[in-house]
Order: sequence, then C-alpha cells, then structure tokens
Amino acid sequence: MMLSPEQLLNQYWGYSSFRPPQKGIIDALISGKDALAILPTGSGKSLCYQVPGLFKEGICVVISPLVALMEDQVNDLLGRNIKAVALTGPQSPDELTRIFDLFRHGGYKFLYIAPERLKHELVLDFLKSIHVNFWAVDEAHCIAQWGFDFRPAYQQLTVLRELHPEVPILALTGTATQEITAEIIHALALKKPEMFSRSLIKDNIQLLIEQREDVQARIIAIAKAQKGSGIVYVPTRKLSESFASSLKSAGLDCAFFHGGMDQKHKQQRLQNWLSRPAQIMVATSAFGMGINHPGVRFVIHTFIPDAIESYIQEIGRAGRDGLPAQAWLIYHRQDIDQFKRRKSNQLLNPEDIKQFYRHLCNYYQIAYGEGQGKSFGLPIGDFCNTYQLNPTKAVAALNILDRIGIIALKHQYGSKTRLQFIADNEVLNQALEHHPGMGLIGRNILRIYGGVFQGKIAIDLYQLARKTGVSIEQIKEALLWMEQQDLVDLEHLQTDIQLTFLLPREDARSINPHTELIQRHAQRVVMQQRDVLALVGQADGCIKQSLARYFGQSLSTDCGQCSNCLKKKKQTSRNASDAIAELIINLLKDQSLTIAELRENITFDQEDVDAVLTYLHNEQKIEVDAVNRYYLK
Ligand code: ADP
Repeated sequence: MMLSPEQLLNQYWGYSSFRPPQKGIIDALISGKDALAILPTGSGKSLCYQVPGLFKEGICVVISPLVALMEDQVNDLLGRNIKAVALTGPQSPDELTRIFDLFRHGGYKFLYIAPERLKHELVLDFLKSIHVNFWAVDEAHCIAQWGFDFRPAYQQLTVLRELHPEVPILALTGTATQEITAEIIHALALKKPEMFSRSLIKDNIQLLIEQREDVQARIIAIAKAQKGSGIVYVPTRKLSESFASSLKSAGLDCAFFHGGMDQKHKQQRLQNWLSRPAQIMVATSAFGMGINHPGVRFVIHTFIPDAIESYIQEIGRAGRDGLPAQAWLIYHRQDIDQFKRRKSNQLLNPEDIKQFYRHLCNYYQIAYGEGQGKSFGLPIGDFCNTYQLNPTKAVAALNILDRIGIIALKHQYGSKTRLQFIADNEVLNQALEHHPGMGLIGRNILRIYGGVFQGKIAIDLYQLARKTGVSIEQIKEALLWMEQQDLVDLEHLQTDIQLTFLLPREDARSINPHTELIQRHAQRVVMQQRDVLALVGQADGCIKQSLARYFGQSLSTDCGQCSNCLKKKKQTSRNASDAIAELIINLLKDQSLTIAELRENITFDQEDVDAVLTYLHNEQKIEVDAVNRYYLK
C-alpha cells in the first residue's frame, strides 16, 4: 500500500503534521509544478523535497553548495533507513562509474550533488539516464550573479531543465529580494513556479540596534546578561582574536573563528562551540552557512554589516529552536565613515578592473595570450604592496574577475613564515639560554633549517609545532619575541587566495564584454550602502517592518519588541505618566482624596495611577495624612 505524504512524515520522521507552508510545497511538486520557497532557516526546508522524493517513484536529486551540509543530510536520511548518497569531492572517472553502478542497482532515493560536479560529462550522462522524480536546489540565491552570495558553480544548474525538461524543480532559499527571486526563476528556467514565502526574520528574534560610544563595554555587558550560546560578528580576523581575548579577560567563555584558520582548527572550534552549553564564538563572516546550532540565544554585530542580506542570514543563526533570542547591532558613530569607505572601495568601474587585471597578470609574469589554466597562491598583502592597492579594493576586484569568469578564486587559506637569524651566534646563544622556552624553539629551527643565518628561509610552523610539542600560537609568540630582540628578521606571508586563470591574458579585450555587468555591480554597491545606512540610522518605525519591506514582504503588525518599538512604548508610557501626574495634581488642588477616589476620577490603568502616586509621594510632591488621604504639599 502506498503511504500518503502525512503517513511518510509520521513513519520516517515521527512528526504528526506538516508546518505551513510545507504541505503546499509538497502538493505543488507532486502535481508536477515547479516551486520557489523563500523560508528562514530552521523552518524545515529539507522535508519539502524529502517527503515528495520518498512519495514518488524515482530519485530526488538535491543540489547543495556545502559538503558538510550534504554529508549531514545523507547521514540523517541513512539513520532513518532511507538510502541516500552524496557526490562531493573530486572522484576519478573509474570511481564515478563504480558509484553510478552501485547507485543504479541500490534502491537509492536521494542523490546529493555539489554544483561543481555538474560540469562532468560523466555525471551529466548519468543524470540523464536515471529516473529523476524531483530536482531540489538548496540555497538557490547562490545562482544570482549579482546577489551577495553568488557561487559561479551554480551557473551549471541551467542544465537541470535541459536534462529532464518535465521534472519539477524546487528552488529553496533563506533569503531573496524580488530582484534575486526573478533571477532564480530565469536562471533555473522555472515554469510558472508556485511561490511560497514566510517572514524572513523569525518572530522569536528581537532586533536591537544601538549606536554607542562604549561598544566593547556594552557588548561585554550584553554577553554577561545572557545565559546561552552566542555569536559575536566582527569585521576582521585580527579583531576576532583580540575581541575574543577581551571577552575572555572579562570572564566569558569564548573562542574565535575566522577564515584564516586551518580546517582542523575550524572543525575543532566548531565542535567545541556546539558541545558547550554557553560558549560565545567571536567570528568573521567565515563562520557561516550550515552552522546548525539550535540553541544560539544571541548574535551581536559589532560593526555595520556589508549588506542587508548577509545581516539577515547572520542573525538567522539565532533562535533556531524557536525560543526567544536577540540580534544586536552595536556600532560606534565612526563605524559609519568606515562603512562608507569600505563601500567606496568596493565601487569599481570597468577601467579599474582592466588596470587590476593587468597588475595581476604582471605579478605572475603572464605574457599576453598566455596563462590559461595556470593556478597560483596569492599573498594578498604582498600583492597590494607591490601595486599600492587598497586590500578591500583588491578583494572586490578579484571577486568581480571571478564572477565574470576570467579567473576562478578559491579561498584556500594558508600562511608562510620566512625568517633569517641576524644576530651573531654568541648573542643568539645567550638570549636563548636565558629564555628556556625560546631555546627549545630557536634550537629546533637551527637544527631543522640549515642556512637560516645566510638568508631568509620558509619555516613550516606545523612541523616546528610537532617537533617541539609547543602550540603554533606559542611559536608565533616566540618568533615575535625574537624579532623584538633583533635576533631574527621575520616575514609573514598570507596566501589567502588560490586563483586560476581561466582565459589567456588579453588585457582590455578580456574585460570589455563585461562592461555592463561591472557597471551594474557598482550600482548594487551604491544601493547596498543606501539600504544598510537607512536600516542602522532608522530613528523610528518598526525595524522588522522595514526589513520585511526590503524583501517585498509586509508584517500585519509592528513587532512591538525591536529597539524602535520599545522606544515608542517607553515614550507612550512616559506621556501617559505625565498626563496622570497632571490629573492627580489638579484633583488635589482644593481637596484631599483617598486612593480609591483618585482611581475613580482618573480613567487610566489602575496600576499606572498607583505607580505615579508612589512616584509623586517619593518625590515629596504629595503627602498622605493620618486617615490615608492624599493632599498637595
Ligand atoms: P531549514 O533547512 O529550513 O533550515 P531544516 O530542514 O534543517 O530547516 O529543519 C529544521 C528542523 O525542523 C529539523 O530538525 C527538522 O527535522 C524540523 N522539522 C521540519 N519539519 C517539521 C515538522 N513538520 N514538524 C516538526 N519538526 C519539523
């Protein structure tokens, strides 16, 4: 007997009913329609394709940008006795063939695929050959070329419709403006999709925006007043480290996280944070998508966010469990100028991009007509120094070159430390002897790396850490100390970015076809700046309403709990108190009255009247006589 979607929900997930709008989405798909769902994180998007995928014969193919997320989902399904597999990392043709053979005969219901995999003929042939019941595209906004979270690989997804024109596509995202929605529909060639959306900011999240002079102290106070886990977003890696240490000094349990850390450390930090009941993660935006911690009680932005969309995604990590949570944005008035500067550095015209591209090619000594397919690590600091470039501008330009397909960027972080001993042997030995900790590190460097007196040599900090049993952080500290003592000449090169030239160098000719897109990007930057400044500077009116309007939605009532709504309430109650006080004083002008008589004559809330009476009495504006009658002093 075939089970209904409700029965499947019950049997496999143990849930008694669908949440709105899950059922609508499922019905649309089952009746053969495309659908686009814009729902905040935690609203249960996965079930929208998992249930119909189980319900219908065939295989549901899910495209998702994050390997970790796919693996989680596959494990979750396997744990429910549903056969699923994920196609993530690069597999050789032989491996792929083997997986496909297994898949064909294995009774699988779900196939998770990274968008990059859709480039392979072998994968496409395979997808063509199987019975796909639905396509599900997770994080669909990544397809929008000028959206805030564009991923070039998502452009492969135009192939889905071509592979199986009749198979319904479900596009899912946690954030999309009307413009992005239109781009998703166009890029995926959705046919009259049924649209589903819910307020992108969950009801349980309270939005609080404050401009402060004492940002750090304020954040410490907020964090101390909280009980559960939290995320503090900071704008730079350096700040994530220094801010975390300030919070630690204030007695808070916290750690930092940024994109410059190696994978192993990132994983450890994340696991630690997930398992501790109340740890604060001080992080850059690299602490991002796929962070699935239900109990985050607060998210604090300590700076003005780059775009409304990224802000919404970041605050959406709070309160996934549906319990009350707070999203704070605490900024200093100088942050406004800093934000404007950041934005103006992202504002690039086609001429800037041409110039930048020339620098990039020259840096790697790529001759005209050459370079296609070549990959390099980019030490961004050194590159910017060489050409006197602002780093924000450089990163913005790299992203544009990536988006228009001239280079492919990979944020593969790593760092190189190079050093040379410049003190003579005797001075060095003396210094090392007096500091036993330094001695261990210094001697190991001398042992492992011959020639450190002759010239600068690249040092592998991990190897050194293994050899000495000292942590990388301590080694870095030791090296800095040696530098301060003029024992070594030290150089840190960060190779944050790995880039591949996708086309041969043709200077302006490479850029010219993209002039219009580059100009459009510049316009978007201007609009982002306008929208973000309007949000943080909004003096009155419900903030949630404004954000809803930004996404083309509207709330039936003001939220009543954002900083502006609270301010309004306070103002209203202050006005009411003033009115009550005036009435009391007038009534007592030529008579004394009991509390009951006063209440009778004043039509305001009894509690408010009592509170004002107490206040006036405390302030000695009124007095009470022996028979409990109030009179004017
Ligand atoms: P999203 O992808 O929108 O962030 P998920 O698919 O991860 O959300 O779902 C969030 C949580 O809600 C999961 O634990 C999921 O099992 C649960 N959930 C989803 N739908 C229902 C439902 N109808 N009833 C109860 N729990 C649900």
